[in-house]
Amino acid sequence: ARRIQTSSVVSMVRDAIKTKTRVYVNLAQPELADMVAARNVDGVGLLRAEFIISGIGKHPNYMIETGRQEEFINKLYEGIVPFAKAFHPRPVVYRTTDFKTNEYRELEGGDKYELPEENPMLGYRGASRYIRDIDSFKMEIEAIKRVRKDYPNLWVMIPFVRTVDELRRTKEILEAEGLKRGPDFKLWMMTEIPANIFLMDKFIDVGIDGISIGSNDLTQLTLGIDRDSEKLQETFDERNDAVMAALEIAVKTAKRKGITSSICGQAPSVYPEMTEKLVAWGITSVSVSPDMIGTTREIIAKAEAKVHG
Ligand code: PEP
Ligand code: MG
Repeated sequence: ARRIQTSSVVSMVRDAIKTKTRVYVNLAQPELADMVAARNVDGVGLLRAEFIISGIGKHPNYMIETGRQEEFINKLYEGIVPFAKAFHPRPVVYRTTDFKTNEYRELEGGDKYELPEENPMLGYRGASRYIRDIDSFKMEIEAIKRVRKDYPNLWVMIPFVRTVDELRRTKEILEAEGLKRGPDFKLWMMTEIPANIFLMDKFIDVGIDGISIGSNDLTQLTLGIDRDSEKLQETFDERNDAVMAALEIAVKTAKRKGITSSICGQAPSVYPEMTEKLVAWGITSVSVSPDMIGTTREIIAKAEAKVHG
């Protein structure tokens, strides 16, 4: 008989654990979708669109100018479907495109439409783009809508929202295009700018179903450290008291307002012990890298036993 290795027994046991707090996964590459979906995971907490768009390789404005909207929409649709299909009926939270201008410039035709910026990380990105370049955003929405015809488990998350007004206007565009919140469609906002923390109540009052903490950008902006700085790598630490205070406010405010809260930055993947605190504060899901699904489920189970007795 074939001997079962200890490691696979461990993962079988882990895969049987059930928790109230959901374990989601962060994904970008379609070829991983089926394999990861077979695991004990409750959905995709962050589907990064940038990998798909890089694959298309062409700037959205360039596609519009050359009359190839349909081609762009269809390719984006084809890029999203494998995720929505693999995880159906579990939710797949699609994060609308969050390329920075330097990344957009790498796409075909990109240099014509993107002005070079000194600090692209703080530049024309996220929701600030959707409300200024509505035609590109509409193509993205159209692709989402087409996927949702067969896979209504595809939800939407808005990244890098600087002001309450940006969230309101982004939501208005989504609604005008037919993506309205309901039992079948959830709208989330990423919480990754200190302004989101200070004004958490006001952002939530715009009308969203959930928040997901982008701890990578939130740490960068809370500590004022370029997340890619090698020199300051050691100081860039999500366990810093100020960052933890921000996470606590986000999770507790979401709980008080009765909406779901999640985290999709790398923090709980790199520092899994952090998950215990997040659960104690009342987070409703934790989204981690595929290799951390089992460990995170175990930590959550232990943390829930502590919280609920
Ligand atoms: C984050 O900022 O934590 C996040 C998940 O988004 P990204 O890393 O893609 O900026
Ligand atoms: Mg981010």
